[in-house]
Amino acid sequence: MTHLITNDFPYTFEKMEADIQELKRDYPDFFQVEIIGESVEGRPLYALKVGTGRAKVLLNGSHHAREWLTSYLLMQMAEAYTQAWSSKENITGFDVRDLLNRASIWFIPMVNPDGVNLVQKGAEATQQPDAVLRFNDYRTDFSGWKANIRGVDLNRQYPAGWETIKPSADSPGPMNYKGPHPLSEPEAKAVYQFTKKHRFHIAAAYHSSGEEIYWKYKIDGNLLAISHEIAKRISEKTSYRLVDPGPDPSGGGYTDWFLTEMKRPAFTPEISPYIGPRPVPVEYYPAIWLQNQSIGLLLAEEASKLLTNP
Ligand SMILES: [Zn+2]
Repeated sequence: MTHLITNDFPYTFEKMEADIQELKRDYPDFFQVEIIGESVEGRPLYALKVGTGRAKVLLNGSHHAREWLTSYLLMQMAEAYTQAWSSKENITGFDVRDLLNRASIWFIPMVNPDGVNLVQKGAEATQQPDAVLRFNDYRTDFSGWKANIRGVDLNRQYPAGWETIKPSADSPGPMNYKGPHPLSEPEAKAVYQFTKKHRFHIAAAYHSSGEEIYWKYKIDGNLLAISHEIAKRISEKTSYRLVDPGPDPSGGGYTDWFLTEMKRPAFTPEISPYIGPRPVPVEYYPAIWLQNQSIGLLLAEEASKLLTNP
């Protein structure tokens, strides 16, 4: 299998965009692209689709700017599944052609392209360098930045326990500012609307770091039981630890919102051993790929079970 996906780092928005165009050109019958909105600085927000089945899964990455290795991971998954589908290959025991006749896997690989661009290239690469420098207390190192370009944390934008998010910042900055109201930012709003339109059976929001899986937020009964079973399957594949958020979890995240509003399973896998407030070192990537390469397929299989036996 030859890889089209660029493997030099950092993996930028421009490289991702070029890779998307190349996959579309090489696999026109197997790989679909949709633009679901645009970022504050006008970058297109891409959604990619692999598969034709009625069961629907969404995987997204890089809500948080410094976590851009999740975009690369999702792009590599999209490529691997597309190639295996077109050539009738298996991936770690999954019959990809059969599975993708039953399920469709959507990817939004880079929810926060402006933030990723800032982390990788610095303030001068943005449209308003003075504003981002002010949000960063005039520090020129943006490697720990999580927010979008307006200093709003996109994973604190969703209407699920938004009022009580903690800890919280009072004003725009590198992290933890939840914005003036839920969905004030175009990136979160686009993902929200796209999710509601498709009514996905299962979702996963990729983050870093810590090798753990968030899967539980104010759910009970059947949804709690099903979510726990699927979380255990993800844990078996990745070796990541399941997190119990305790009785009073903070909210506002994509997974929190999906669980409570869509009332279907959603997961937040945190790739990489814990590395603190910085991008995941690319040396960790080969292990991350082996742990996660089949997670999209696993979720597609679970989604098709939910469709036939809800
Ligand atoms: Zn994150």
